[in-house]
Parts: sequence; C-alpha cells; structure tokens
Amino acid sequence: MQINILTDKECGLIKNLIETSEKIIVCCHVNPDGDAIGSSLGMAEYIRSYGKQPLVIVPDQFPDFLKWLPGAEDIIRYDKHKSVADAAFEDADTVFCMDFNCVERVDGMSEVLQSSKSTKVMIDHHPNPQMDTLVTVSHPELSSTSELVFRVIWQLGSFDMMTSNMAVPIYCGMMTDTGGFTYNSNTPEIYFIISQLLMKGIDKDKIYRNVFNNYSSSRLRLIGYILYNKMQVNEEYHVAWFIITRQDMARFMFKKGDAEGLVNMPLQIKGLKMSISLREDTEKSNLIWVSLRSVDDFPCNEVAKEFFNGGGHLNAAGGRLHCSIEEAENIVKLAIIRFADQLSR
Ligand code: 5GP
Ligand code: MN
Repeated sequence: MQINILTDKECGLIKNLIETSEKIIVCCHVNPDGDAIGSSLGMAEYIRSYGKQPLVIVPDQFPDFLKWLPGAEDIIRYDKHKSVADAAFEDADTVFCMDFNCVERVDGMSEVLQSSKSTKVMIDHHPNPQMDTLVTVSHPELSSTSELVFRVIWQLGSFDMMTSNMAVPIYCGMMTDTGGFTYNSNTPEIYFIISQLLMKGIDKDKIYRNVFNNYSSSRLRLIGYILYNKMQVNEEYHVAWFIITRQDMARFMFKKGDAEGLVNMPLQIKGLKMSISLREDTEKSNLIWVSLRSVDDFPCNEVAKEFFNGGGHLNAAGGRLHCSIEEAENIVKLAIIRFADQLSR
C-alpha cells in the first residue's frame, strides 16, 4: 500500500512554504461542497499546528450541513467580505488552492487570486490542472482532495501531530465526495486512511448523521416533490433529469445545500446511466446550475464539457448555462441525442 504521493522536492517545498510564510490563505471552489470545505479546514488546521494563523476564504455560501465542522465558524465568505478578502489575497505569502483545478472555478474570486503575488500550491483531484503554481498536487484517481490532505500530512511526517480537528473535516470530505463510500471508493488505501483517522478519535457515525441525516422537513418535502412531479425518465437512453425552478425553491423555503445529493437519487433506478439536475440560480435570472452523475464508464464530465460549460469527474460533473430553464431542458435533450449510442447500450 502506498500512501505517499509527493516527490521529495514537493515535500520540501510545501514544508518550507508553511514554515516561512507569515500570511497564508486556504481557499476552495465556488458552491463549496463537503470535500472543498473539509479539505480546506483540514489543511488550515494542519498549518495552524506550525503556529501560523491561516485564513480560510471561500467564494460564497456553503451548506448548513457543514457548519458544525470544527473551524467552520471562522470561514470568510468572499461575496460577503470582499474588501477584507481582497486585502488578504494582496498581502498573502502563500495560497493553498483546494479542490479546484482552474481559476474559473472560484468565480468572483478569480481576479484577485490571479493578481495576488503569493506563491500558490494546488491540492486537487480534478483532471487537467491548469493553474500557475509552485506546487501542483493533482491526483484525479483519488477519492477526494481531503484524502490528498491526509496523504500530504502523513508524508510530511506529521501524523503524530494530527488532531481530531484535522481528522474530522478530512473524513467528512472523503465521505461526501464518495457518497458515504458508495462510489469512487474501491482502493484499499481509503480504508487504511479511515482506520488511521479513527485512531484520532473521530466519530464517523456521528459525522455521517451530521451531514446526511440533517435535513429540514422542507428539504425532504422538496425531494419528494421533485422526484414525484418533476423527474423525467427516458427509459430508452437510461437517462433521468429534473428541473428545480425558483418557484419550487420558494415553495419549499429552499436554502443552499437543499438540493445537494438529489441528483444522485435517480441513479437508484435499475439500469439508469446518467442523471441531470437543472437548477435556477436563487437570485440571477437566466443562470442555471447543472449537476450530472453517471455510473460505470459513462463519462458525464464529457457531457458537462460539451453541453454545460463545465467538467468534473467521470461519474460526477457540473456546469452552468446562461439561458432560460426551457432552453436548458432542450440542451439536455440535445446532449442525450449526442450521447445516444453510449447511453442506449
Ligand atoms: P456538483 O454537481 O456537486 O456541483 O459537482 C460535481 C463535480 O463536478 C464536482 O466534483 C465539481 O468539482 C465538478 N464541477 C462542478 N461544476 C464544474 C465546472 O463548472 N467545471 C469543472 N471543471 N468541474 C465542475
Ligand atoms: Mn472534491
């Protein structure tokens, strides 16, 4: 079993950067998910063990079901505290870029991230990293960026110093990016890592409940409504999709994160290969958030790239459209036709 992923040179660079930097930022992608937040908090807590005080800056709101994570209360939202965050980026010595592979993924924060003179370290598991960094730790074959954070800490010889405040967010990110270890989670190393995290006293059952059994009643009703009233299933092409409009969201008192995981549910249908969610932005009109999930070797990231201005992993991808919800649904239909061969098999 191989836990180490860094070259000796990368090891030295990362350690040296943490030791010599005074001002450190840890940031992640827009619409942060469990892995983005988990890897950022885990990394920040690790940097704290060097006596540093890193800032965790995220582009926008993150789901309520992550707010209980240790350190989450100190996260700075770029959209809410732009001037503070801009100044921090301008001043930063080192910026750790967690769970994203290109500047576009940080949305409104991309300009200041690019113009910042800081040294950048990317730690990520999305294919094709495209950023100007001193160190790029990119492993698309691994479950999550949080798994990468564990491996980095391990390889830097710091496991003994790992606290539960590092272990909890790391576990949380690994768990959320694998749907509770039900996909992308076949490597034995993952379970070795979990066993090591358990030695740090994490309560993995509680972490699961905090994240997955933490719905509001309105979220559960939204899910019921979408599956019953809105889900379209195309049996011939083994695809399902649904639309969540602003009206639906208002009806069910939608809060950020309420649609999280919903796109996975149609994959419970026997034989289904791809599921697509189209969700209107809560504020901006003509902005549609797209989430795609697939099974086996069907590449939903290619669909995301070709039709939805996005990308991602083989089985989990996302993107966005700038059009009406009706046009967005038509694009879904075009995508199905384009990939009909692979889908109908
Ligand atoms: P989600 O559906 O949870 O928003 O995203 C699923 C996966 O696709 C995540 O791993 C996310 O990082 C990736 N993803 C979502 N949107 C984009 C995008 O616009 N571009 C790229 N390259 N990846 C995306
Ligand atoms: Mn991730």
